[in-house]
Amino acid sequence: MSADPFLVRRVAVLGAGVMGAQIAAHLVNVRVPVILFDLAAREGPPNGIVDKAIEGLKKLKPAPLGLAEEAALVEAANYDQHLPRLGECDLVIEAIAERMDWKRELYARIAPHLAPQAILATNTSGLSITGLSQALPEPLRPRFCGMHFFNPPRYMQLVELIATRSTDPAILDRLETFATRTLGKGVVRAKDSPNFIANRVGIAGMLATLREVERYGLGYDVVDDLTGRKLGRASSGTFRTADVVGLDTLMHVVRTMQEQLDPALDPFHDSYATPPVLQVLLDQGRLGQKTQAGFYRKA
Ligand code: NAD
Repeated sequence: MSADPFLVRRVAVLGAGVMGAQIAAHLVNVRVPVILFDLAAREGPPNGIVDKAIEGLKKLKPAPLGLAEEAALVEAANYDQHLPRLGECDLVIEAIAERMDWKRELYARIAPHLAPQAILATNTSGLSITGLSQALPEPLRPRFCGMHFFNPPRYMQLVELIATRSTDPAILDRLETFATRTLGKGVVRAKDSPNFIANRVGIAGMLATLREVERYGLGYDVVDDLTGRKLGRASSGTFRTADVVGLDTLMHVVRTMQEQLDPALDPFHDSYATPPVLQVLLDQGRLGQKTQAGFYRKA
């Protein structure tokens, strides 16, 4: 890894959902100013976007700055009025919903506003980075890559970095330096394969657990106890984790596997079949913590 300095004066985070708001909170926690873009910021301030990031900040321990000082480092922005402000940002982290078409549409819109030195990174859980890059004009593709945080991004140590064939290796080195030195993360470089490494393994495990729960009529809390703290894991077990991630996002990640593994050629294709209960919960609008109900009633 080169020691090429990467001066990050300001970051834009696109999407103030579960991940975007918390990534923004972590950035200001390490004193990097953030512009947090979201569709919902349309009405202009005051709005809920900065509040969400501030909610995230309140959960961070220890807060090196006072809350007011940290809150001053986050600004809310919307795509209709504030896109030119992207030109102030050295790094743009896209964290909108896990849909290839929506992300590509957004990239085409933001591309003309990016600063010439800026890096564009996507927090996708597992969509093809190469596929996403095709929405960008060719000259921008060397500065595009995957930067996959884990939930909650303040506490989860891992960040996967994913290059395409067009990504400039120096860009990945710079991002790795930023992720390790500034954000305090451990970086693993992953290939641009469906769901990369951690989700590929993790989702298969989660779905297998869910199938066993249905087969034997086990309680989610019993299984969480066994797959979480009693196994010595700091996380709260399989189903609480799914509620924190968001069942809609989880379903997108499952679909990525279903669509990209060839059933005729890949023996693991069936491991990613949709468990019926997951579809039932989604049909009921139970998306996990974001709707206060998922596998658990009060997620
Ligand atoms: P979320 O559902 O909480 O938030 C999605 C955000 O996208 C919302 O702020 C919404 O306003 C915005 N959005 C939706 N459609 C849009 C569009 N057409 N244009 C612009 N913005 C749009 O989702 P999330 O869980 O924060 O996931 C965001 C990204 O991060 C996804 O790619 C997801 O796979 C990835 N990710 C999620 C987790 C997790 O645990 N939830 C972990 C790692 C990575």
